[in-house]
Amino acid sequence: MIILYHDRFIERQEANVDIEDRAYQFGDGIYEVVRVYGGKPFCLQEHLERFERNASEIRISLPYSISQLEEHLLQLIKQNQLADGNLYFQISRGTSPRNHAFSDQLQPLIIAYTQTSSRPVKELEYGVGVISDPDIRWLRCDIKSLNLLGAVLSKQKAIDHQCHEAILVRDGHVTEGSSTNIYIVKEGTIWTHPANHLILPGITRAITLQLATQCNIPFNEKPFTLEDLYTADECFLTSTTMEICPIVQVDQKQIGSGMPGPVTKKLQEAFNQEVANQCHS
Ligand code: PLP
Repeated sequence: MIILYHDRFIERQEANVDIEDRAYQFGDGIYEVVRVYGGKPFCLQEHLERFERNASEIRISLPYSISQLEEHLLQLIKQNQLADGNLYFQISRGTSPRNHAFSDQLQPLIIAYTQTSSRPVKELEYGVGVISDPDIRWLRCDIKSLNLLGAVLSKQKAIDHQCHEAILVRDGHVTEGSSTNIYIVKEGTIWTHPANHLILPGITRAITLQLATQCNIPFNEKPFTLEDLYTADECFLTSTTMEICPIVQVDQKQIGSGMPGPVTKKLQEAFNQEVANQCHS
C-alpha cells in the first residue's frame, strides 16, 4: 500500500516515525477520516476546512497549502485504486526532545493512507444497540485531536457489552457518541446537542441537518437527557463511516418500536441521494 508521507508517496513499510514524534508521545496533532464511494471522496472540502481550522486552534501551521493537500489526497486514492473505503490523514506537530511545551520552529508531519471497507449495510438497515457512559473527555471536544483516550475507553466498554457505541453523558446531558453524533426524534422533531466545545461538529451532522431542512423535518439544537433518550420515538447516530445509523436499543432498553423509525429512514434516503449526487454522477 502506498501512503502519503509529508509530500511524498512511499510504500507503507518505508515510513518511519521518530520515537519523539509529538503525535506518538502526546497525541499532539489532529486528524480526519473521509469516506470514499466509487473512488470519489465524499465532502472532502468540508473535511479539509475542519482540518485547517483545527490545526490553527492548536497552533500548528500546515507545511503546505490545503489545495496541495487536496491534490495529494486525490492522488493517493488513485494510486491505491481505492473504490469504497476510508481515507485517513493526520498532522503531528513534529519531532523534538520530549517536553510538554513546544517551539513554533518544529516541522509538522502530515501522513495519509487508505483502507478498503464496505458500508455497514446491516447496521444501517436494522439499527444498533448502544450503552451510556460518563463523558470523561476534555473540554475542547470540538477539536478532532489525536488524543482519543476518553473515546477509546468508552468505545471498548460498549464493545465489551456487545454494543456498537457508547453514548456520552456530561452533567446530565447527552453530548455525543465516542465517535459519532447523536439525535433523538420526539413528536416529529429532531433533537441534537448544540455544536459547541462539548461535541465534535461532525461533517455528517451538518449534512444531516441540511437534509432535515430539505425534507421539512424540524430540528432543535438543544441538549437532552438520558431519560429523553430512553423515551424517544426514534434515535440515530451519524458519522463519516456509520452514515445515518438507527439506534434501536440504549442500555438494553428498546427505543420506540425497536425498529428504525420513519424520520430516520427518510433522512437515510436523502443521504443516499446526496452520496449519489456527489460520488456516483
Ligand atoms: N463525534 C466524535 C467524537 C467523532 O470522533 C466523530 C467522528 O469520528 C463524529 C462525532 C462524527 O464526525 P464526522 O461526521 O465528521 O465523521
